[in-house]
Amino acid sequence: MRQYNPSKRVLVTGGAGFLGSHLCERLLNEGHDVLCVDNFFTGTRHNVEHLLAHPRFELMRHDVTFPLYVEVDEIFNLACPASPIHYQHDPVQTTKTSVHGAINMLGLAKRVRAKILQASTSEVYGDPEIHPQVEQYWGRVNPIGLRSCYDEGKRCAETLFFDYHRQHKLRIKVARIFNTYGPRMHVNDGRVVSNFIVQALRGQDITIYGDGSQTRSFCYVDDLIEAMLRLMGTGDDVTGPINIGNPGEFSMLELARKVIELTGSRSKLVFMPLPADDPKQRRPDISLAREHLDGWQPKTQLDQGLANTVAYFDALLSRDATVLEF
Ligand code: NAD
Ligand code: UDP
Ligand code: UDP
Repeated sequence: MRQYNPSKRVLVTGGAGFLGSHLCERLLNEGHDVLCVDNFFTGTRHNVEHLLAHPRFELMRHDVTFPLYVEVDEIFNLACPASPIHYQHDPVQTTKTSVHGAINMLGLAKRVRAKILQASTSEVYGDPEIHPQVEQYWGRVNPIGLRSCYDEGKRCAETLFFDYHRQHKLRIKVARIFNTYGPRMHVNDGRVVSNFIVQALRGQDITIYGDGSQTRSFCYVDDLIEAMLRLMGTGDDVTGPINIGNPGEFSMLELARKVIELTGSRSKLVFMPLPADDPKQRRPDISLAREHLDGWQPKTQLDQGLANTVAYFDALLSRDATVLEF
């Protein structure tokens, strides 16, 4: 197996967010110097509080839509709100974050000759006609809808990555991440797994958008981080885009029932309008990941991952109420 080269200076943008904080932790555990850059829009200091005392960890408040001059060997570009309610809160800023953020991080990578990985998304496939989704599929995205700031921003970021690769010979890696969940999602994140778990634990109604027949494939955070590290460690010929996700596919109704069972909750299901352009189905074809990431495949089944996440939120919600302000 190809080893991830030790002792690098690694920049993680969006490092105080859900995925970023797990990534920073793993990188520190592997002996790297980690510079975590975040504007705390959806991420929090709390997510990385346990890393602050680490001698190789540095936290910088910075918005990636502005230039950043630092000296690093590798860049993981994760900065961007990922939950629809948050990325739609200020859609112009969301596009700026994806596009100007990518330009700045690519400019930085170009100046210091760093390797750079983009956290892209399954949303580049939009509401797909091809199922499961393979990397060759170009997607079906509405360019002017409520989700476009995120979807098209991420698509443009991919374009920029490949143009910097072709034009400036940058070493790039593009990961198309499918729905990922786990501990350290924000209580008010708004995505389906945290919503259902928090609602179930509080005994509130579980909000199903539409009739709940739409599907998603949920990847546990540890599996995702492992794949991202392996992708960064691949040879320069591997640029991606590569799907990373768990091919297990579930409807939102199935997910709600699992959460109710796991929490023993008496919450009722309530049905609410389906948001505009909500994709009907989503499942990754991960053949390419298996091939290029040393046989990587997700290890954590949904039931186990949900149990871990329920335990996390249960502990969080049982602590004093101020924790909900994070
Ligand atoms: P998150 O919202 O928890 O994390 C995003 C982080 O980026 C936050 O800490 C936020 O404060 C920071 N950020 C936002 N705008 C910024 C800016 N302009 N400058 C600096 N920092 C900024 O979301 P997440 O789930 O951890 O997602 C991380 C990345 O992975 C995102 O790029 C997202 O698009 C991508 N992704 C995530 C998933 C998933 O299911 N979790 C799926 C596909 C893609
Ligand atoms: N940039 C940055 N840090 C650096 C180098 C560049 O943030 O260390 C930004 C800079 O703001 C620039 C952008 O990256 O606008 C793109 O850089 P590039 O060199 O590709 O373009 P140029 O500087 O020629 O516009
Ligand atoms: N969803 C839901 N109830 C919620 C939150 C989301 O039924 O409280 C649905 C949403 O409409 C979508 C799916 O769950 O069909 C996944 O939503 P999420 O926001 O987690 O991710 P995305 O739509 O970006 O894949």
